[in-house]
Amino acid sequence: MWKKQILKMQTYKRGKSINEAAERSKTDLLIKLNSNENPYGYSNKVKDLLTERQIPLNIYPEGNVGHLRKSLASLYNMNETEFIFSNGTDELIQMISRTLLEPGKNTVMASQTFSQYKNNSIIDGAEIREVELLNGTHDLEKMITKIDQNTAVVWVCNPNNPTGTFIPENKIREFMQKIPSHVLVVLDEAYFEYINQAYHSIDLINDFANLIIMRTFSKIYGLASLRIGYGIASHHIIQHLESIRLPFTNNQYGQHAASLALEDQAFIESSRLKNVIEREKYYTFCSENNLHCFPSETNFILVDLQCDIERLEAFLESSGIILRSGTGLGFPTSIRITIGLEEQNIKVREKILEFMQNHHQN
Ligand SMILES: *Cc1c(COP(=O)(O)O)cnc(C)c1O
Repeated sequence: MWKKQILKMQTYKRGKSINEAAERSKTDLLIKLNSNENPYGYSNKVKDLLTERQIPLNIYPEGNVGHLRKSLASLYNMNETEFIFSNGTDELIQMISRTLLEPGKNTVMASQTFSQYKNNSIIDGAEIREVELLNGTHDLEKMITKIDQNTAVVWVCNPNNPTGTFIPENKIREFMQKIPSHVLVVLDEAYFEYINQAYHSIDLINDFANLIIMRTFSKIYGLASLRIGYGIASHHIIQHLESIRLPFTNNQYGQHAASLALEDQAFIESSRLKNVIEREKYYTFCSENNLHCFPSETNFILVDLQCDIERLEAFLESSGIILRSGTGLGFPTSIRITIGLEEQNIKVREKILEFMQNHHQN
């Protein structure tokens, strides 16, 4: 009795965890740069929470996520009713798909983008219309041509994972102006805080009632393990999504930690700036070694090594370095590297060069 779309599916190939990698690697000096987590950790304010505050675990968490909701509303100067919270943005993607997609509807997305849009669309039985990236960026013009009266959702990942490329605000605005009002546009901004250019996408929410922006505490805020994601949209959209939200999506530690993390914007700023400096060194590395990489506005970089990535992965793993192979990301000769700490990045570049010199001379 299994749904037929489930039978065709493969389970999501997530980045290896530290434990999985440690089992395979011969060293215990692991450098985990495969899931775009913040290498600098998280705010010290959150560290105090974990040791000092007793949270009664027998009590259900606050279903309304009230305190964090207030803090975010004031940070962004939006109404509290314009937010929805989820167990990571992964869950919000699922909620959007579940409320809007079904057989007979279609959904438009880039063909090399975050895999959860497609996975959820398959599960909910919608037709998937994929549009190839253009130079690593969403081909917004072409995406518009795929929209018809049965299109329910268009996904735009900005900056895009796995390429790291960024669409400027004016391009998003022009795009929104051409989208029919029955289509929900989902703007996934998991890396928003890393963007190093003027970008105020939140302003678009006031102008477009069919836009939802997704953000997360998993990336620059360094709280991936606590699963706090959220959406910002007009009250009308939020209401529909709320109707299917599980009663208690965010645990109490996560809610407290996110509120505290939000107060420490100095940590966010320092993470962002260090990331820019370290990212620059990868650009230099790429140009010195004639390797293609896309310009990134995130804490990762997709480098085309023109080699057998599986072999490179095995070689790196034996040195305790875990990166994300491009094989499962639609870039079979590339590797996605999370930009880590200075000394980690030095080691990564060293090992990549070593592999290329020993295994890949032509
Ligand atoms: C990491 C990531 C997410 C998921 O983040 P969570 O909030 O941890 O679920 C969503 N979208 C993109 C593009 C990501 O890279």
